[in-house]
Amino acid sequence: MQDKLYINGEWVTPDLGQTFPVFDPASEAQVHAAPAGSEEDINHAVSAARQAFEGSWRQTTGKDRAALLSAMADELEHRLEELARLEVLDNGKPLPEAVWDIEDTVGVFRYYAELAVGLDDQRTTEVALPDPRFRSVVRREPVGVAGHIIPWNFPLLMAAWKVAPAIAAGATMVLKPSELTPLTALELGKVADAVELPPGVLNIVTGLGKTAGAPLSQHPGVDKIAFTGSVPTGAGIMSACSRSIKNVSLELGGKSAFIIYDDADIDAAVEWILFGIFWNQGEVCSATSRLIIHEAIADRVHDRLKEEARKITIGHGMDEGVLLGPLVSVGQYEKVLNYIEHGKRSGLSLLTGGQRPEHLEKGYFLEPTIFTDVPETSSLWQEEIFGPVLCTRTFRDEREAIRLANNTPYGLAAAVMSQDPERCTRTANALRAGIVWVNCSQPTFTEAPWGGMGHSGIGRELGQWGLNNYLETKQITEYTSRKPWGWYLK
Ligand code: NAD
Repeated sequence: MQDKLYINGEWVTPDLGQTFPVFDPASEAQVHAAPAGSEEDINHAVSAARQAFEGSWRQTTGKDRAALLSAMADELEHRLEELARLEVLDNGKPLPEAVWDIEDTVGVFRYYAELAVGLDDQRTTEVALPDPRFRSVVRREPVGVAGHIIPWNFPLLMAAWKVAPAIAAGATMVLKPSELTPLTALELGKVADAVELPPGVLNIVTGLGKTAGAPLSQHPGVDKIAFTGSVPTGAGIMSACSRSIKNVSLELGGKSAFIIYDDADIDAAVEWILFGIFWNQGEVCSATSRLIIHEAIADRVHDRLKEEARKITIGHGMDEGVLLGPLVSVGQYEKVLNYIEHGKRSGLSLLTGGQRPEHLEKGYFLEPTIFTDVPETSSLWQEEIFGPVLCTRTFRDEREAIRLANNTPYGLAAAVMSQDPERCTRTANALRAGIVWVNCSQPTFTEAPWGGMGHSGIGRELGQWGLNNYLETKQITEYTSRKPWGWYLK
């Protein structure tokens, strides 16, 4: 485990020599003291990124950068098992999910390697003008120095969503991982070393939000901030960026709805509902945490959900067969428990769960929890809980279902299930969300755009959209006519 920051291609001790503790959420034991970067380290990292950007990195072709991205993918793949185990230790998620995360991370680096090659051909494109005296081309240029601030739910994958497209575009960057899960992000520095990524292109400063994240978002030498995290932090970052008019993209929280119509296949519905809320302990920004179910099938679905939720094996992420690990930290555990206690106190109907599993005395473990008939005014229906807690309500007709689904300030994701394709399309079109799943919930592809509307954020990651985040658009317009312009000089 790394105990130094990665700046300008070197491993350096934090300026103030401080560390912060990293815990295993399954045992509650401290497993590492990670380097705590501060403003001075951020300044150092931003200078290194600027120097790299102004230097030979700018002359690299997409093909050059693609070779580096592919080499990073190979290196990550080579270390897959080790990185997945580190993710389990740091975040708590079950090993098969961590393996899946690292496989996805490898895929993201491979995908952006391909897009980087394509960039060489698209760098300059002609624009058709109505005036034959002019010729105009559009150039796509790297944005400059990017600051990446990321959360803890998919630690390495969230880093990859930002780092890989930024490298593909030819930007340089400073990555600030979450203080709850810094371990695998630091390993990315080792990967950069192994493939000889030029010094300063990728800098990694671990530390706390206030002392490392804030100086990064406020730094006048940073051209772009890409942030993934909670709404309040995102709002603060947006306002910090406004002071120096930084380009900013925000991937924030959600309270996504899953509409189940009366013609849905019950088994398929139960499977996707469970996956939509209990995968990754419900610590998923796009988790379908509000179930909106047709009254005619509600009882049957609730019965099956109760039965299946109770069968989910809860335990240490390294144990065979475990499908639900601990929540990431004591803070997150208490936050989710407070919501559950509030739900119980306010008389909500608890279908299943709602407490620590009896067989686990230590660790931030919680049973899969389902509340039914949750009023729209309840904070459990309105607010992002970010844990294994599902709230359900019934509806009578399509209009009511869509109104219920859209009645939130968020707009990240939504899902709909029906055997009627037209009804699915109508509903998908009416849902106010950046991502809509039909007859499933959560599958995410690197090729497709990711991001939300309303309080869920600004901009899109992944796919071509993810690359565009790190590109500026410049027009170069030339007067090609031999005739004088003739405005002043007649
Ligand atoms: P958070 O906002 O607490 O922290 C996110 C990051 O911001 C961390 O690295 C943290 O250190 C940093 N930070 C905190 N205060 C800061 C400040 N003042 N200035 C700059 N940086 C600061 O969020 P979290 O608890 O780590 O993550 C959970 C949230 O992330 C949830 O709301 C979830 O929905 C959201 N999320 C969204 C997506 C998406 O794609 N939309 C993906 C994953 C998570």
